[in-house]
Amino acid sequence: MPLATLIRRSSLPCPAISPAQAAEVLVAHYGLTGSLKELGSHQDRNFLLDTGDGRRFVLKICHGDYSTVELKAQHAALRHLASHSDVRVPAVMHALNGKDLLSLEVGGHGVHVRLLEFIDGQSLAHLEHLSRQVVTGLAELCARVDVALADFAHPGLERILQWDPRHASALVKHLLPVIESADERACISKAAEEAQRRLLPLIAALPVQAIHMDITEYNVVWSRDNHAMWQLQGLIDFGDLVSTWRIADLSVTCAALLHHADGDPLYILQAIQAYHAINPLRPEELKALWPLIVARSTVLVLSSEQQASIEPDNVYIQANLASEWNIFDVATSVPMALMEAAILDAVGWRLPQSCDRDFLPLLPGLVGQTVKAVDLGVLSELFEAGNWEQDEVDERLLKTAAQAHGLAASRYGEYRLSRTLTDSAREPETFALHVELQMPHGTAVHAPFPGALRHTADGALMLMGEDLALRMWGVRSDFDSGVELGAGDVLGQGGGSLIVQLCAEPEVSPPLFSTPSRAAAWRALCPSPKGLLGFDCDAPVPANSADLLARRDASFARSQKHYYQAPPQIERGWRNHLIDMQGRSYLDMLNNVAVLGHGHPRMAQVAARQWSLLNTNSRFHYEAIAEFSERLLTLAPVGMDRVFLVNSGTEANDLAIRLAWAYSGGRDVLSVLEAYHGWSVATDAISTSIADNPQALSTRPDWVHPVVAPNTYRGEARGADSTPFYLKSVDAHLARLAEQGRQLAGFICEPVYGNAGGISLPPGYLREVYQKVRAKGGVCIADEVQVGYGRLGHYFWGFEEQGVVPDIITMAKGMGNGHPLGAVITRRGIAEALEAEGYFFSSSGGSPVSCQIGMAVLDVMEEEKLWENAQVVGGYFKERLLALIDKHSLVGAAHGSGFYLGLELVRNRQTLEPASEETAYLCDRLRELGIFMQPTGDYLNILKIKPPMVTTQRSVDFFVDNVSKVLSELEG
Ligand code: PMP
Repeated sequence: MPLATLIRRSSLPCPAISPAQAAEVLVAHYGLTGSLKELGSHQDRNFLLDTGDGRRFVLKICHGDYSTVELKAQHAALRHLASHSDVRVPAVMHALNGKDLLSLEVGGHGVHVRLLEFIDGQSLAHLEHLSRQVVTGLAELCARVDVALADFAHPGLERILQWDPRHASALVKHLLPVIESADERACISKAAEEAQRRLLPLIAALPVQAIHMDITEYNVVWSRDNHAMWQLQGLIDFGDLVSTWRIADLSVTCAALLHHADGDPLYILQAIQAYHAINPLRPEELKALWPLIVARSTVLVLSSEQQASIEPDNVYIQANLASEWNIFDVATSVPMALMEAAILDAVGWRLPQSCDRDFLPLLPGLVGQTVKAVDLGVLSELFEAGNWEQDEVDERLLKTAAQAHGLAASRYGEYRLSRTLTDSAREPETFALHVELQMPHGTAVHAPFPGALRHTADGALMLMGEDLALRMWGVRSDFDSGVELGAGDVLGQGGGSLIVQLCAEPEVSPPLFSTPSRAAAWRALCPSPKGLLGFDCDAPVPANSADLLARRDASFARSQKHYYQAPPQIERGWRNHLIDMQGRSYLDMLNNVAVLGHGHPRMAQVAARQWSLLNTNSRFHYEAIAEFSERLLTLAPVGMDRVFLVNSGTEANDLAIRLAWAYSGGRDVLSVLEAYHGWSVATDAISTSIADNPQALSTRPDWVHPVVAPNTYRGEARGADSTPFYLKSVDAHLARLAEQGRQLAGFICEPVYGNAGGISLPPGYLREVYQKVRAKGGVCIADEVQVGYGRLGHYFWGFEEQGVVPDIITMAKGMGNGHPLGAVITRRGIAEALEAEGYFFSSSGGSPVSCQIGMAVLDVMEEEKLWENAQVVGGYFKERLLALIDKHSLVGAAHGSGFYLGLELVRNRQTLEPASEETAYLCDRLRELGIFMQPTGDYLNILKIKPPMVTTQRSVDFFVDNVSKVLSELEG
């Protein structure tokens, strides 16, 4: 009988109550009037009442068949949570007769009526992507509710409910005929049966308690804070409250999350970790979780199909159908055994790392022979200059190694570099779950354990043991499928390539490669075949990235920050991508230093060649220093005829200040607010960016005079006409210095405002400032460390945009492509003024290696047309960024040009309130999507876009598309 009741209930339609009837109930029984809006629901009729005086309620009307004791249990649970937890739930309102539950006759229908407080906010069901913070927030809420309800008891909890997983199997069988397609029916029943099979042995150990059973995005209310971050407001809808397995609560939450998982079932692991941290789960519960999620997904699909068949016009149910099928598809996209392993791994269980069984040799003829293990990993020396992008490179390298050594094999558990994906938000499948052997023709292959042979559809020969399957590609066997072999029997012959894979779940067809995030789980299912191959074919396990970070933190001074809280370990790069140790490529949008891109072979050749000759210093006489200096001067404006070579931008700017001091005889320097020029005592003194140093504005020495930042976007005066306003600040400083009888030494600024995201200075600004400074005997320094050297596309130097020529140019960063190299270019008169203060010498500034590298950078820039690329692709980039302004309200402006761009995010285009938290979210999320990006500006609300100059249009599209995708998430 219980099943019959259950099924009758699962098909009860919503009571047919009109808004007018609901309004009558409200007046008559609660003395309330106001506007009514119907809210969607599976089986209740819900109305939102707005009384117009700031109060809002939910009127819930359910079928009279529902038992009142169950409704009373819900009310008791609401009161229990309100008093035993910090979870916000709706208060239950009393009717005029003092009761909180009314059983009435409305329009000829017997119904139960309740009125609940309305919790302000919204559900997040409409969002495609739920952020990590929302996912963990949901799971933590689930854990907190379960903790609070653990000691809650009520007779109304012992109910028969269609969503209770204890009835899932029976319900599925009953509802299955509602599905018309035989294929779909087969899929559903197969999934439900396997879930049930896995669940059965665990049931006895599953704790039972009262649970909400519907903590999903539909029933959790959120609202955005003023940083656009979702904040949890409360939990509603206790209609599925029941006493059942505790773990069912989390399974419901996780099943709902699968709809937002972008197809990746492992998305729920973060929720499981968050739950487990608050309410630790038993091993049996962890093992039951995925089968329960799968079972839930089958029940969801069938129930919705069933409801849709009864109420074809219920748009709420119709809309849900697609989402339920999506959940089912994601839930059945991976083997259950894999998810069990992934869940256990996520909460810190040690999964089996190897198969410790005894095997007979697979290839007895080769026993004792040496097999060359070929390193195909991220750091392999066989890879350079992007050769891993060639088709079938791994197979070729294996063959070459076999020719040289006789036998060669790939390594199990290797993250293969050749399988990386560039400009992809998808994790690549890099982790090898198999070994590939290159061996002589005619090598006999034997059964390492007893089993039945099977030829599979994907061309493998499979040996099915009792609890282990061996798959092989490259074995010719005369046996038909079904033949039983004993351990040691010959099963066929191989030669050339032989691929070998073990799987501890014989019915599962594992992939040959897994993504890094699934690697631990797949490793537990597909152990290394080394036991049957007879030699060590395992790749070394890469160092744990978190452990390495701890070592860094324990030894490397902390003021030297690193990107991201949990940064990936990056040891290789190629062109405009950086590759982590698991073979995932990230689009590098940060590295203005590596102008030529990463891993450029010319850099390696030139450095190696010069190192093999010698590396001395500028006091020796060698050709490269003369040649490089000459080449730099050909790039500089006419009249500049002297070069200093140093090792960094800081040194270049420090030296420029000393030159200004020496030449002018004064010490006072005008700098610009919100700028960064270096870390040495002098360059730090002129750096006033509070993003780099929060104390910057209060700690200036008295020789530094920062003028108002000429920020044409968010400064006090805006736009192209703002020049006179900003000049006033310069005039005021100059007048004060004159009044005090102080000699001005000079003025330093970036000619394009780099630290503020590449904003152009107002037209004519530098022309006027340079004139005023020179009139006072000062020198004008252009800090071209970031923006110079062709990055801007249209101009080689930033000062060209302003139509001026400085007295001193400082440069670094890209000129060495990452090798420590900086330069100061100036006129002879200024250069020689320093001699009055002694000689200048920097031990490694202008060393032969540095000069050779500096020249090679210029050669490559020319040969690979990187300046042109900055103009063409950079121009396209700017256009695409500008288009985002029309599409996203958060985008205030796109600054800069070429490959020096800034995207400024604001909450309001009038007030320009900086969207700092949103920018932080965007950068973190872009990293998940395979892009490195960081914010800049005093409010950290500008994307500082300064990629290697080899960046392609494809990379630009990948970047802008993903920025737009995440902005939509923030605006949704
Ligand atoms: N000037 C500017 C404009 C810079 O951006 C930087 C570095 N971010 C420097 C100078 C200092 O250069 P370095 O780090 O090579 O010392």
